[in-house]
Amino acid sequence: MAEPHGEGPCEVELPQIDLGASAVFLDFDGTLVDIADTPSGVLVPDDLPKLLTSLSEQTDGRLCIVTGRPVEDVSRFLGGFEGHVIGSHGAEERVGSEMWRHDLAGSDVVSRLGDMAEAFAATHSGLVAERKPTGVVLHFRQVPEQEPDVYAFLHALEQSHQEFDLHHSKMAYELRPKGISKDASIKRLMESEAFNGRRPIFFGDDVTDEPALHWVSSQADGIAVKVGPGDTAAGFRVPDTQAARTALKIWAGLEAEAGV
Ligand SMILES: [Mg+2]
Repeated sequence: MAEPHGEGPCEVELPQIDLGASAVFLDFDGTLVDIADTPSGVLVPDDLPKLLTSLSEQTDGRLCIVTGRPVEDVSRFLGGFEGHVIGSHGAEERVGSEMWRHDLAGSDVVSRLGDMAEAFAATHSGLVAERKPTGVVLHFRQVPEQEPDVYAFLHALEQSHQEFDLHHSKMAYELRPKGISKDASIKRLMESEAFNGRRPIFFGDDVTDEPALHWVSSQADGIAVKVGPGDTAAGFRVPDTQAARTALKIWAGLEAEAGV
């Protein structure tokens, strides 16, 4: 299976940080939990909700999950965590009881794209189509040899749907609304009154996280942490999701749970 590989220059030892002066942004799949064969198959460690709640409290609410999953979907895996969530790469955002969605959320065009992707997956064994409120994903994790076909299919849809862009992520291609990205969402939040002046910290594992890792590391004097192998613009790296959780537990003062 052709995962991106290469280590790149990165510090492994994470610095001490002051959560009270920080804003913490965390990707979910491949960062806090291991990636599974299907999006619904991820296993969530029992102590993850406690960790997230502790980080949220110690940052005075400046903890934000930043995921490609829809907010409603990722919430099922967060064990009642009620903090800030940016979903669908930024096309959805939940703050407290408030929920914002991109204008294309739930639109007829998104529904048609979902129908077409499901029909394509139905005739290509091993592909998984995932409908999102603001787009669609085709996962080829179980059949990596089908990547060129998936690309060609979704590229054609991108050409005929000007309001969408095609993105590559781990073993998947995704159509989502133009201008929507994790880095744009993080930049916007960091300019908001609530987050301005905080030092951004971002953990991510995927190529879709790289623009945000680059911005946090080089433009915002923040701490960008790449989880796992692969070339990266991040200044720091941890080897896997367990190491990412351990680093966060140490910062949160939950060393007992971190086993150190
Ligand atoms: Mg990820």
